[in-house]
Amino acid sequence: MTAGVIGQPIAHSLSPLMMSRWIDAAGLDAIYTPYVATPHMFAPVVMALYRAGLKGLNVTLPHKTEALTLANRISDAADKIGAANLLTFVDGEIHADNTDAVGFISSLRIAGVDPKGKSVLVLGAGGASRAVTYGLKDAGARELAIANRSLGKAREIAREIAPDTEVVGWDNRNGLLDQVDIVVNATSLGLKGQIPLEMEWGQARDSLVAIDTVYTPLETQFLADARNRDLTGIDGLGMLIEQGKPSFEAFFGVAAPQGADIRSLLETKLGEAK
Ligand code: NDP
Repeated sequence: MTAGVIGQPIAHSLSPLMMSRWIDAAGLDAIYTPYVATPHMFAPVVMALYRAGLKGLNVTLPHKTEALTLANRISDAADKIGAANLLTFVDGEIHADNTDAVGFISSLRIAGVDPKGKSVLVLGAGGASRAVTYGLKDAGARELAIANRSLGKAREIAREIAPDTEVVGWDNRNGLLDQVDIVVNATSLGLKGQIPLEMEWGQARDSLVAIDTVYTPLETQFLADARNRDLTGIDGLGMLIEQGKPSFEAFFGVAAPQGADIRSLLETKLGEAK
């Protein structure tokens, strides 16, 4: 059995390491391979791998939107989010799904936070925000607000994914901190090489949970500042691991094995890459 991940660049992807560890732990005769493709070559490469008998592909930047155009069937999550990170090749068809949303919600729950009934502020309105917002709405979050630099993109998410969402200007993002239970960084701020995301955590409720989608570095300034204010901080590595589990099961027909110690494997890899 063969599956893989396709993107450009792809060398930095942690998916091959993670999937290979699960393959070994499950005792499967399978391989999971990275494939690089320019936007121009994405469709031909996917179709060639489909014809070669792969079980499917994870899809990463910059192809997540284009992936939808190749599918015969699109899940509700991928349709609403407008992007697929999973293509499975099933009975002569290509199925598109998005597991980022469910991965994000699982990572919250594993950290002991149930979003049901909670009031959540999402920062950012790109692809990650669309998945996070879809997941939060699906998981029963009570109130949602999105703060983004470009207001139009936040309004689009409110219109297409979560109609009652409040849209807030970027410079007013701290104004809701005394009202919300959870704040999600779904911007690319804080990512290695980018400027950090600064928040005025002094205004936050003591019970506030801050969760980052960024995992390089594992402790962003967003999280470090929240933890210094004694708030709960959750890093983005959990989301990465949890979005991989449904993909593994879709490719290989068995659940990703428990206890494969994926987190410490990935933490070591991220540590080496510093
Ligand atoms: P996009 O490029 O689609 O969106 C980037 C977002 O960041 C936009 O909302 C953009 O605002 C905002 N932004 C960028 N620069 C600034 C700035 N200087 N000031 C204010 N806002 C800014 O990226 P993605 O949504 O695809 O990815 C976002 C993050 O999510 C990435 O860092 C990635 O690491 C993480 N991610 C993590 C996953 C995981 O498994 N843990 C999975 C997927 C993504 P504007 O709209 O105004 O441009």
